[in-house]
Amino acid sequence: MYNTLTRKKEEFIPLSPPLVKMYVCGMTVQDRPHIGHMRAYVVSDIVKRWLTYRGFRVKHIQNVTDIDDKVVEKAKTLGRDYRELAEENAAEFMRCSDIMGIERADFYPRATQHIQEIIELVSRLVQKGCAYSTDTGVYFDISRFPDYGKLSRKRIDDLIKGARVQIDETKHSPLDFALWKRAKEGEPFWESPWGRGRPGWHIECSAMSMKHLGETIDIHMGGEDLIFPHHENEIAQSEAATGKPFARFWLHNGLLRLLGGKMSKSTGEFIPALDVLQRFEPDAVRLVFLSTHYRHPMEYSEARLEEGEEALTRMWECIEMLGEKSEEEEKTKGGYLSDDIANFWKDFEDAMDDDFNTPKAIGGIYSLIKDVNLNAENMDGSTARLYRDTLASSLKILGMRMREKELGVFTPRLLDLILDVRQKLREENKYDLADKIRENLSRLGITIKDTPEGSVWKI
Ligand SMILES: [Zn+2]
Repeated sequence: MYNTLTRKKEEFIPLSPPLVKMYVCGMTVQDRPHIGHMRAYVVSDIVKRWLTYRGFRVKHIQNVTDIDDKVVEKAKTLGRDYRELAEENAAEFMRCSDIMGIERADFYPRATQHIQEIIELVSRLVQKGCAYSTDTGVYFDISRFPDYGKLSRKRIDDLIKGARVQIDETKHSPLDFALWKRAKEGEPFWESPWGRGRPGWHIECSAMSMKHLGETIDIHMGGEDLIFPHHENEIAQSEAATGKPFARFWLHNGLLRLLGGKMSKSTGEFIPALDVLQRFEPDAVRLVFLSTHYRHPMEYSEARLEEGEEALTRMWECIEMLGEKSEEEEKTKGGYLSDDIANFWKDFEDAMDDDFNTPKAIGGIYSLIKDVNLNAENMDGSTARLYRDTLASSLKILGMRMREKELGVFTPRLLDLILDVRQKLREENKYDLADKIRENLSRLGITIKDTPEGSVWKI
């Protein structure tokens, strides 16, 4: 896997195999999750799934940044309690993550539940002389960490030259960053040896990673926009405190771009993930994400998602056709193509072993489907079964769910359609029929709730 720290591909051997300790930087929950978040977490999902396929046992921790400047500011703007806002957005994140078929982490620690660990880590840095306290907070002294810049390959001199006029005059250097911020009037706070305040963003991740995974972990992941300063600072404060490497492999995903810009609330370009997932088949969204290598930037467009749905439909049709064929009576042997399948698996595994090359792996799936469609005429039942299993399991390894059997191909839109019809029935006072629809859906595990704003479904 490609390690941002060394800028090269390295063989992955965890510290204590088969255990892999993996920390994924989670969302800061001042806003709803956007579709760019989903790309990042599909990437970590693929890393975890592939390592699991290769026999590792991944311990996966993904934090929730439920207190930081952005959360505090947003709550203030909305006149809401920051905890309520954070939990609302965190819940929507979990919902989207589940819809996307992202495997759940072992634990989703919240920063607000780790204030004690954070204070202890900051104290350790202060005691070691790597941090100092001022009127505005506690700061990490980057002059005490000579390796500063090793992840982002930035030189301290250049950074200082590039830094804007120092806003906070209490800091020794404009690059020193806050570990603890003193609370201003009306802001949430916790008691600490440095007065009432709240943690800085970077220290939260270090404290949670160490608490749940130990001082040195195997893989730390996040979007490439986190390399500097977030991950650089995580390394500085963690390694200064422990004297040990913080993370051995740093993996970063390219960003999902919109009209050439980064998708984030600050650019004004923001597409809520849930909106996309209710309009497009989640597996198609995943397929589109995986069609670009995780380290490359990617342009978001609805046209691509539509193409993804078409491609997914062709996959499912092929699998269904093979399923039907496999149940046919054995005819004359139409050539047992096990060599093809062995080659397919070899190429698939080679591609995934080479820094998770999902576009190549998916390219192999497309070729296999093409071969199947060309040779379907003379395929016997057992060959069809072999191809079907190969296709189905390769898609499953990539996290695609074969849900068409349970719920239909384009579940969300199909359900919206059913609800529309049911609404018409209700308007015409045909409540018997409307209730029957609800009962039948309920048996399939779909709950319909009638609200004043209309009916909503939940799987
Ligand atoms: Zn983080």
